[in-house]
Amino acid sequence: MTQNPVCVTDLNTVQLQELIARMGEPAYRARQLQHWVYQRLAGSFDEMSDLPADFRQKLVQETRLHSITLAHEVTGGDGTVKALFTLADGKTVESTFMPYPPLSGRARQTLCISTQVGCPVGCPFCATGQQGFERNLTPGEIIDQVLYFARRMKDRGNGAKNKRDNSITNVVFMGMGEPLANYDALLQAIEMLNSPDGLGLGARRMTISTSGLVPGIERLSREKLQVGLAVSLHASDNALRNKLVPINKKYPLEALIAACRAYCKATETRISFEYILFEGLNDSIEQARSVARLLAGLDCHVNLIPANRSADRHFKSPSPEAVAAFQAELQRQSIFCTVREKRGLDIDGGCGQLRSRLMNEAHREPRSVRP
Ligand code: SAH
Ligand code: SF4
Repeated sequence: MTQNPVCVTDLNTVQLQELIARMGEPAYRARQLQHWVYQRLAGSFDEMSDLPADFRQKLVQETRLHSITLAHEVTGGDGTVKALFTLADGKTVESTFMPYPPLSGRARQTLCISTQVGCPVGCPFCATGQQGFERNLTPGEIIDQVLYFARRMKDRGNGAKNKRDNSITNVVFMGMGEPLANYDALLQAIEMLNSPDGLGLGARRMTISTSGLVPGIERLSREKLQVGLAVSLHASDNALRNKLVPINKKYPLEALIAACRAYCKATETRISFEYILFEGLNDSIEQARSVARLLAGLDCHVNLIPANRSADRHFKSPSPEAVAAFQAELQRQSIFCTVREKRGLDIDGGCGQLRSRLMNEAHREPRSVRP
């Protein structure tokens, strides 16, 4: 098999400088190239007008500018955009873009991105978990999901009043895969998205969501990053969590919550807990009290997520009244708690759902990937 040429977004600043030196170019070209990739959001080497033509030619021959190509895109009634990307080896991942209308004058555009093809954790309620694990994404494959949408906004947003209305304001690592199981690539991507030489996105505007890989949480707490951490809790007793989030058998709740407490202390940040509500499984008032007992004294926020529609009848969303009652009980127990707004319901908004549906369709009718 021929080796794919190196992809520019897979390289950190030092690696990029080394590449430029190997090509026999002056060192400042690395900075120029980075500027075109991350600030000017160039879609091709041809656009890089202040780079000499022979250098651009060398770049075309020896490198790739990006590592993903759009395979399918669908926009929902609420403005949510779901994109499916093809990677160099033909595998696919998805990202979800969610614009929020300006509240008190400020727009927010959140992008939810993937870190793995499939996921090794295998939660039974999750479309990605049911696809099995294929491989980790490279740093460039993670970064390029953000660059794709940043470029898309730039191209379409010429009429926007200010830059903020016209750029990605938040990135959440909550798409396909378990981010902390791809730790090094995740950190490299975060560094480049955060760096002033990269996209310059504030670390506080990024959130890593984890199913609870304790060693990863411990490692992250030593990084001195300002990135937010969200932990997918979904159950407050080990018996149920073993079923819903199978990694719990390896890192049970006692170890997980201890790691979360240590994380809050070390980083002096508030942690978020995600709790998907499944009717009849984890949505009783007694279970709300049990969540409150588990999290007592932790500086945290609980995000309740009514379950997405799922083919599996075991995983249904409770009624809005039951969701409100669960939230009210947590609040009575002094737990800061909100209910996540549902987005992109008409376009397979949940993690891995679009890919799952397109794969099923492709399996039935190989030529069709249309909705
Ligand atoms: N693997 C990491 C990262 C994100 S995947 C983790 O588990 O934390 C997890 C996210 O996908 C959840 O927080 C949830 O928002 C969403 N998700 C997956 N299946 C879902 C379902 N059936 N209903 C609602 N949300 C779901
Ligand atoms: Fe993996 Fe998260 Fe889905 Fe569980 S919910 S299978 S950890 S992507």
